[in-house]
Amino acid sequence: MVTRDDYNIDVKPTWCSGCGDYGILNALTRALVAHNIAPHEVMIVTGIGCGSKLPQYMRVNGMHTLHGRPWPVAQGAKLANHAMRVVIVHGDGDGYGEGLGHFVHAVRRNPGVTELVQNNLIYGLTKGQFSPTSEKGWKTSTSPDGSIETPAQPLALALTHGATFVGRGYPGQLKHLIWLIGEAMEHPGYALVDILQPCVTFNKPRAYDYYNERVYKLDDEPDYDPGNRTAAWERAQEWGDRIPIGIFYRATPGPTFEALDPVLQAGPPLVQRPLEKLAPAQVEGLLAGLR
Ligand code: SF4
Repeated sequence: MVTRDDYNIDVKPTWCSGCGDYGILNALTRALVAHNIAPHEVMIVTGIGCGSKLPQYMRVNGMHTLHGRPWPVAQGAKLANHAMRVVIVHGDGDGYGEGLGHFVHAVRRNPGVTELVQNNLIYGLTKGQFSPTSEKGWKTSTSPDGSIETPAQPLALALTHGATFVGRGYPGQLKHLIWLIGEAMEHPGYALVDILQPCVTFNKPRAYDYYNERVYKLDDEPDYDPGNRTAAWERAQEWGDRIPIGIFYRATPGPTFEALDPVLQAGPPLVQRPLEKLAPAQVEGLLAGLR
């Protein structure tokens, strides 16, 4: 049995006290343990941002990539090793700003990758600029008179491009977030979990007090059907006095990207194929460079 100790590492997070990323780290670790997934079976790929430091705080395969670029690495890892549980963890700036092009194309390809977006509606690491999900009129260091941009609608965008698992969680509802991440990881295709992540330093008005008063669970709505894509699309844009969390949409996915690629079907997964054109000493040299 996998335990939390298996994921423990003696590195303390440098996040601000009270940051929502602590809850996300906790929820992800607990979800992995609850589903008996061992550290060597998981690869966490991140971009740039406060939350993208997350794999440094777990004993797990991890890769901290360039800003907005975890998707190419994550897809490559999944194509090479289909058995690996590949999870992207990054913020709204990295995922829906710099990485938006990758996001859209990845969603329509349906790789078997889980994406967790720490959505704090701001750029935290660079000290508080408005982000793609900041509300119109939002005052930040780069929008002193209020943002003039309409916020991105990432959940609706994912639905529009064919995502078959779209959810939103909140670390202030920890048990619910653990369950949601676990459900996403067991989905046999691409899964998005957007997470309301309080940034208690640079976005104080959108922290715990704000969300605690507004968040409601779709699972508690007797008439809500997570198999109804149109209803999901409408709820994905609900924001204000009430903010939904839970599974917005879940459907049986088609074949994954890695299952469709004809080159990959002509033999075992890439990680099991011999490196025939390289001498053993060259392989050892390459591996040594990665250690
Ligand atoms: Fe968290 Fe915001 Fe601090 Fe970054 S700046 S660690 S997002 S509270």
